Amino acid sequence: MKTIRRILVANRGEIALRVMRTCKRLGIETVAVHSEADADARFVREADLAVCIGPAPSAESYLRIDAVLEAARRTGADAIHPGYGFLSENAAFARACAEAGVVFIGPTPEAIEAMGLKREAKLLAEKAGVPVVPGYDGADQSPEVIAAKVREIGFPVLLKASAGGGGKGMKLVTSEDGLLDAIASARREAEGAFGDGTLIVEKYVTSPRHVEIQIVGDAHGNVVHLNERECSIQRRHQKIIEEAPSPALDPELRAKMGEAAVKIGKAIGYRNAGTVEFILGPDRSFYFLEVNTRLQVEHPVTECITGLDLVELQIRIAEGHALPFSQADVRLDGAAIEVRIYAEDPAAGFLPQSGKLVDWHLPELEGVRVDGGVQSGDEVSIHYDPMLAKIIAHGGDRLEAVRRMRNALRRLSAQGIATNRDLLLEILDHEAFLAGRLDTHFIERELGTDLSRSPSAESVHLAAIAATLRASEERVAANTVVPRGVPKGFRNNPHSPAWCEYELGEDVVRVEYRFDPRTRRYDVAVGEARYEVELLSIQGHDVSFRAGGVRRTARVVASGEHHYVLVEGASLRLVERPRFPDRSVEVVAGGCLAPMPGKVVEVRVAEGETVAAGQVLAIMEAMKMEHRVTAKEAGVVKEVRVSAGQQVDADAVLFVVEPAE
Ligand code: ADP
Ligand code: ADP
Ligand code: MG
Repeated sequence: MKTIRRILVANRGEIALRVMRTCKRLGIETVAVHSEADADARFVREADLAVCIGPAPSAESYLRIDAVLEAARRTGADAIHPGYGFLSENAAFARACAEAGVVFIGPTPEAIEAMGLKREAKLLAEKAGVPVVPGYDGADQSPEVIAAKVREIGFPVLLKASAGGGGKGMKLVTSEDGLLDAIASARREAEGAFGDGTLIVEKYVTSPRHVEIQIVGDAHGNVVHLNERECSIQRRHQKIIEEAPSPALDPELRAKMGEAAVKIGKAIGYRNAGTVEFILGPDRSFYFLEVNTRLQVEHPVTECITGLDLVELQIRIAEGHALPFSQADVRLDGAAIEVRIYAEDPAAGFLPQSGKLVDWHLPELEGVRVDGGVQSGDEVSIHYDPMLAKIIAHGGDRLEAVRRMRNALRRLSAQGIATNRDLLLEILDHEAFLAGRLDTHFIERELGTDLSRSPSAESVHLAAIAATLRASEERVAANTVVPRGVPKGFRNNPHSPAWCEYELGEDVVRVEYRFDPRTRRYDVAVGEARYEVELLSIQGHDVSFRAGGVRRTARVVASGEHHYVLVEGASLRLVERPRFPDRSVEVVAGGCLAPMPGKVVEVRVAEGETVAAGQVLAIMEAMKMEHRVTAKEAGVVKEVRVSAGQQVDADAVLFVVEPAE
């Protein structure tokens, strides 16, 4: 037995804060390690001690084993919690911790090796008698052999990075066309993101559910499962909504899948919290996918329904204690759901977003837990995963949990960069979701491939009114020219109302208003609609007003010409138009712009080359993912303005293509 007194958390953001929260409750001191980009982040400020371990790119900071261990030595940390991602499934790191005399809060290096890699884990599951997805897990990794195996298995197939995670390094291949390209690209992503280019091939199962079992094992040979989580709502093979229990499982199937997971855990004497992932077919048959030998992003839903603190269990297990309960003691209380808030634009293929988070606000609500890592004013960096926070709702049953979540999301103000908030709300309100009819293709099938949505006319009107009221009050308060006693909205010419124009996407919203000093009300016209408006109060960002006989409170945050408004669950950004139109910005004709800031990995065309519409011109890497820059139309490449390895800003002109006649 070892008593842990000070834990270094080798991670950042939301998960670092989550681990530290349990440490504080247990009276354990905390050490944060961070990159230069995170020097002022919340998790750094909330730790007892913090050490900067290098520049922004993860490879030069969070992934540096030597720097993390040096920080542990310097701060006297006696244990390291790796969180998830980064070094959490790195056997060499677990080994280096042991050599440095620091407790690694996780499984043994041998277990990570046996299960942290998809290839080894599948072989092990098969041996334990657990069904696996048909595929190729061979040691021969030459592209030709892999291609031959793909043909043998039959399309469609998934290429996966054996060391992968987070839906990254995975490629769906539906036909011979582009097969070798896909293998090369999957390998490159695998090497770049996980430092290991080993690939496995799996038959692509159509329309499965993703159901996983949480297990915990101690150093005394006990392994129990803590029920399942359903994680079928995904984009890019990555979960965005998770829940426990799964609407698809009854006690019998739960027991069967639980037993399969425990069998795998016991086969290698698993010690730590871990997750055994399965895909579940409509016929209730299930296939092993992989084991995650660490805490999962979605662990909070399990904590809600079992009443356990998984981080506390991890710490106790690492100290050498036996599990304080047995399988029969594990509870399943109500239902819980988690959503992941990502800085990404669902309408643009879920393109990760970076920039300033102008406003981040969510009031405290009963039954709702927020595992967050950000606050208003934070810069969301291109260097890390774009997940901003998780919201978890717990209820007596699924409907209550979903309703609480919906309410929380409607009250979340996440402004400044695009997020998936509205998409999550649309899913939660969807009839098929409410009925529990889920599978991993839910989003494409139920919501379509075009995920751009326009706000309702009413929410646009209310938002424009709220923004205008706030701005007008501010102008009056700041205006020293207006003589005292002159009412707001005063104009020499009473027939010409005050006005303001906002851009909302492609549309222009014009607000005209006239203040009547006798009634203290505004007569407002937004487009064709008219409202009688009364401003009730402005407190901080909350603007309370009556419009059309209904009292409401909107949250309005202004930043330059941008007005971010949250009103009745709708989140909008109105861009105030200058009174005198700007010169239009010069755009290079046929220019191909960088979709986001990032690094150019490969340039595929040269000057003078003829290109077809949709042809890949370059490959960029940002947010740990590859993005293809393609030609919008056929033509001739007139200019190549970048080279491989170059770092570029969003909207930088990468190529100039002269369109073909
Ligand atoms: P990761 O390590 O990135 O989590 P997984 O192997 O767990 O990779 O797969 C992630 C997701 O991809 C699964 O939840 C599922 O939606 C999808 N997926 C994985 N393997 C298959 C498969 N063979 N057939 C269909 N979908 C799959
Ligand atoms: P469009 O360009 O399609 O007309 P918008 O002007 O609303 O649409 O948005 C342009 C881009 O600005 C979007 O693709 C998105 O990335 C970003 N964006 C949209 N709404 C917001 C918001 N509330 N906060 C920050 N960024 C936003
Ligand atoms: Mg997985």
